This record gives sequence, structure tokens and C-alpha cells, in this order.
Amino acid sequence: MAGGDGNGWVQCRCGHKHWGRYGAAGLALVRTAPRPQILLQLRAEWTHEGGTWGLVGGARDSHETVAEAALREAGEEAEVDPDLVTVVAELVGADHVDWSYTYVIGLAADGLTVADVTPESDALEWVDLDAVAERTLHSAFATSWPRLLEAVREVLKNL
Ligand SMILES: [Zn+2]
Repeated sequence: MAGGDGNGWVQCRCGHKHWGRYGAAGLALVRTAPRPQILLQLRAEWTHEGGTWGLVGGARDSHETVAEAALREAGEEAEVDPDLVTVVAELVGADHVDWSYTYVIGLAADGLTVADVTPESDALEWVDLDAVAERTLHSAFATSWPRLLEAVREVLKNL
């Protein structure tokens, strides 16, 4: 885990605590070949809602854009090479004023590889878009997924 200045809890006006002093971001990394798939992470058991599937991502540092944060976290949690990702869209998954979470949609270039496992990921898997909802998902990701899927399909349609 990085020791950035974004690491820390926010006591939010919604009544909950959230991770990421400057908000958080996740990378919705999509590839089109062999077919439209998204990179999912099986969250390590020690993490919040460990054992569920979600996206790589985490706290944004103060000097970062949400896209930069999402790409850095993808590097840390899945060994994704940021030079092989094209950021194409952003979607705010939650905005609580005190804290927000943004999905960054990125397209994977040919040749992009991901780690099998990292300290924060018990597994990393390319999953067909239609099959994502069949997994046991992290609760916030599950809530946002229908909207995110729509945004991903829009991106793919315009390629
Ligand atoms: Zn909140």
C-alpha cells in the first residue's frame, strides 16, 4: 500500500466513515479482445469486505487527479502498466460532499498484463461484462455496476 497523503479516514456527513481523505477512485479497466471484459479484483481477506469482487482502486492523494489515482492503484494492486491504459471516461459513483468515489474507465492496450495475485488482491480476473453481476460483489460496486456498465457499453459503442 502506498504511503500517500490521501491515506486516512473521512468522517462523512452521511454518518459513515470512508477511506481516502481526498476521496477515492477505482479503475474500470476494459479490454475488447477476445471479447468485452473488465478486470475484477478478488479483495484480499484483510481488506474492507474482503472476499468480494470489485475494482482495483483506492485513496486519491492531494496532488493527483482521480485518473492518476486510479492508475497508480492499478499499478500497486494489479501491476498494470499505466502506459498501456487509455483513460476514456469518468463516472462519479458516489458524491457525499465530504467524500466522493469516482470510477475511471480505461481501455487496455494489446499486450497489457496483470499480476495473478498481490497483497491487496487474492485474485485478478478478466470477466465478461454480462457475467459481472453473477459474482459476489463489494456492496458499493454492486450498487454502481448497472450505471457503470451502461457507461462502459457507451464507450465501446463509440470505439
Ligand atoms: Zn459519506
